[in-house]
Amino acid sequence: MKVTVSIIFLMLLTFTSSVFADSAEEIDQQLQLFLQYIDRDIAKATVVLQHLTAEKIQFTQEQSNKFVLYKASYLGFVGLHKERIDIVQSVIENITDQNLKVKFLNQLSASYTALGEYDNALNAMNQSILLLPTIDSYTAQIGILHSAATLLSSLRAYDDALSYADRIISLPSPQGNFQAKCIGYANKVQINFERGNHADALSLMKDAIDSCNANGRKSIVLFLRGYEVIDLIEEHSYQQGIKLGLPLLIEYSKADQKLNNFCELEEAIAKAYLKIGNFSLAETHGLSAYEHEKINQSMQVRQKINTTMALIKRAQGQLAAALEYSDAALVLKDKVLNEQLQKSVAYQRVKFDMQDKANQMSLLEEKNKVLRIEQQLEKRNNQLLLIAVIFVMGLLLSILIWLMKTLEQKNRFRQFSQTDGLTQVANRMHFMTCATDIFEKNSSGMSIILFDMDLFKKVNDTFGHATGDWVLKTVTEVVQSQLRKVDLFGRLGGEEFAICMPDSNSDTALQLAERCRNAIESIDTTASGHQFKLSASFGVASFPVSPNRTFKATLEAADQALYLSKSRGRNCVSVHHQ
Ligand code: GH3
Ligand code: MG
Ligand code: MG
Repeated sequence: MKVTVSIIFLMLLTFTSSVFADSAEEIDQQLQLFLQYIDRDIAKATVVLQHLTAEKIQFTQEQSNKFVLYKASYLGFVGLHKERIDIVQSVIENITDQNLKVKFLNQLSASYTALGEYDNALNAMNQSILLLPTIDSYTAQIGILHSAATLLSSLRAYDDALSYADRIISLPSPQGNFQAKCIGYANKVQINFERGNHADALSLMKDAIDSCNANGRKSIVLFLRGYEVIDLIEEHSYQQGIKLGLPLLIEYSKADQKLNNFCELEEAIAKAYLKIGNFSLAETHGLSAYEHEKINQSMQVRQKINTTMALIKRAQGQLAAALEYSDAALVLKDKVLNEQLQKSVAYQRVKFDMQDKANQMSLLEEKNKVLRIEQQLEKRNNQLLLIAVIFVMGLLLSILIWLMKTLEQKNRFRQFSQTDGLTQVANRMHFMTCATDIFEKNSSGMSIILFDMDLFKKVNDTFGHATGDWVLKTVTEVVQSQLRKVDLFGRLGGEEFAICMPDSNSDTALQLAERCRNAIESIDTTASGHQFKLSASFGVASFPVSPNRTFKATLEAADQALYLSKSRGRNCVSVHHQ
């Protein structure tokens, strides 16, 4: 029934394709179908392949690549390895997607292995290993390492094979994904079995089965259980081996994947039956193994089956048949040895190459690491430099601000120490210093005017000290408005003031003193809140430059003239004459 439905389906497929051109989606579906049929139903796969070949012209680039990849897989399955190599070689140069390239390289490696061209197989494997750092797909990374481990194991390079399996296990896997652990541990079990190291294989069994169960890989779990049974039989537990092995064989036939150790399991069960004396069942299983092995094409397994068959036939008393099997086994043994020799020679030859490439790779990786560190250092240095510059600039700025503040303070302090607090004109000390300086520098002579407020005590006593202060400030302003820019004005103390006039003779000084006296006399005191009369007495001393004349003497002369004004009845100007 199932067969009829499939045939109708395939006829329909062929019919529709010849009438209508397929859409891109339909082609995708057929490609998927083709891939699924390859290891389940090769006849159906062949029909879909013919159909797809007819549609080739419509393929997109991606579909075309997929088609070649699947077809290569198909050719491998039907044993056309040379054709498989040709078809892969025709496209591999143009493949830019690294993930895809690796898949093609794996096809090449498998084909060359099947043809016994181990150098080429190893080279293809090597190329895909070199691509590993550029591969981002987790599954593809596992695929590369798995193929390498399998190939190396078949070349009896067990230690190297195990190291690749370890690399699979230690791949950084996505959270809760046991794919790598499952494949890696299963690989290690298989490699150890192939090496004959059953104890190590069994010690890894639990990890392998647990991670494959967690990953939902039932067929790999079956495959591992097969090895457990084979080991039981080899350890002479024949009954137990048969008991566990038979249901496994049924599950193997139902598995969605062809399992590599099927023939070995079948052969082990045949051997177990032989050992317990059930020759007929031994023969059934032996022949089944013999038939299946024709497809599998492993000479080593075939040799083992022939040996077992020879033993069965001998036990059955069929000596001629036994001899035939045993002869075949001997021929195969020879071939296996020869093959192993070839493999080991090829491996040794390529190993140097591989080592060289691995060294180159690690050198490149190291260089990259150094470069990265250098870049980081440079970046960090730049950052440090920037921080240093900012820090220094900040420091400079704060020093500048501090300097400016200090200067301003110094200035304020200097001004404060030089001016009289009430009237804001030069105080006694500053006036003396500046006037002495002017006196020493002047060549054309100078004049000093001194004046003292008349009866000032009476102002304070009558109207209060505040009015007295107001008077002092107003007098200062009034006098200052009469002065030239070059004249120096100062308060010598109390209500006594002095004017230093550079480059001026007694006439100019007298005129100024008169103007000032007038101005003071004219002050309207209403603004102070009181009305009263103000006046001041003036003394003028004016001398041409002479070596025996000092500033102190000039000041004393002016003081004498002031004293004269007071004695003359105040509110007048007196000039000191030599
Ligand atoms: P004379 O005409 O002889 O100079 O008489 P006088 O009253 O002006 O002189 P005297 O030296 O007797 O008095 C000066 C007064 O000036 C005494 C003092 O109280 C007052 N005086 C000194 N400095 C200040 C000041 O800063 N503010 C005020 N309001 N009064 C001051
Ligand atoms: Mg006075
Ligand atoms: Mg006085």
